[in-house]
Amino acid sequence: MKLGALEAGGTKMVCAVGDETGKILEQISIPTETPEITVPKMIAYFRKAGIEGLGIGCFGPIDPDPASETYGYITSTPKLAWQNYNIAGAFREALCCPVGFDTDVNGSVLGEVTFGQAKGKNCVIYVTIGTGVGAGVYIEGRLLHGMLHPEAGHVLIQKRSDDPYGGKCPYHKNCLEGLAAGPAIEARWGQKAVDLKDREEVWDLEAWYIAQALSGYILTLSPQMIILGGGVMHQEQLFPKIRTYVKEMLNGYIKTSQMDHMESYIVPASLKDDQGIMGALELGRRAVAESRNQA
Ligand code: ADP
Ligand code: ZN
Repeated sequence: MKLGALEAGGTKMVCAVGDETGKILEQISIPTETPEITVPKMIAYFRKAGIEGLGIGCFGPIDPDPASETYGYITSTPKLAWQNYNIAGAFREALCCPVGFDTDVNGSVLGEVTFGQAKGKNCVIYVTIGTGVGAGVYIEGRLLHGMLHPEAGHVLIQKRSDDPYGGKCPYHKNCLEGLAAGPAIEARWGQKAVDLKDREEVWDLEAWYIAQALSGYILTLSPQMIILGGGVMHQEQLFPKIRTYVKEMLNGYIKTSQMDHMESYIVPASLKDDQGIMGALELGRRAVAESRNQA
């Protein structure tokens, strides 16, 4: 079955055509301008491909509740042109096919659970640490929405006493995103994150902040695996540091085999940065299956 996948981001829109096995047949990237400029280009691309369903993993916040009047909308984003924009509706109307819709990070966790290293697990968290921090949660076989959807990048964490940086989030002085996303690293140290590679103290502090948040997620949701992606996690030296700090912070309280094998518990993404787009294919497949069930 030919399916469309859209990974909608604040700087670019990645559009792909693939199938239900996660195979990507073709892919393009379109800069994110206004909906008036960008959406018609994407519609033309998918229309030409002749897809049977589309999945969208979208930057947020979004409304993922099918029972809500604003289902399918991007809601209170700081990207003003996209505020209160019915992105799923625009595609559903133009393409006349089922459209699956969720957050970008829920898309990524779905990609990893369906096609990647987390196959067969029923509680998995995917955290992206890039321009912002976000987390997708797959729990008991479903993507977690609840009241809205997880906004776990903004969990409050304790600042380390040797860190004078005030934080970059306009809402919180000491949330993970404000202290540890790429722009926070660059503002604190005055250099591009990628150029700080050899500065041990940068990644030690970064790992300490990330580990605090992960410890909270572990205690709250009991994930069987935590997958870390996004630009900042290209600094691979972070992984051993994060694992060590998580163990230290949990201090032996959680006793499971995963805690004894942290190297296979807190892991990098496994799908070569295609987890988001492959997850969107699965969102599309699920939307088609659901529409057939209802018919
Ligand atoms: P986005 O979050 O916008 O989708 P990315 O996940 O690539 O995009 O994140 C971009 C952020 O990640 C930038 O703020 C940059 O500082 C940081 N970043 C990108 N590449 C690297 C790298 N190799 N090492 C450290 N930080 C990086
Ligand atoms: Zn915040």
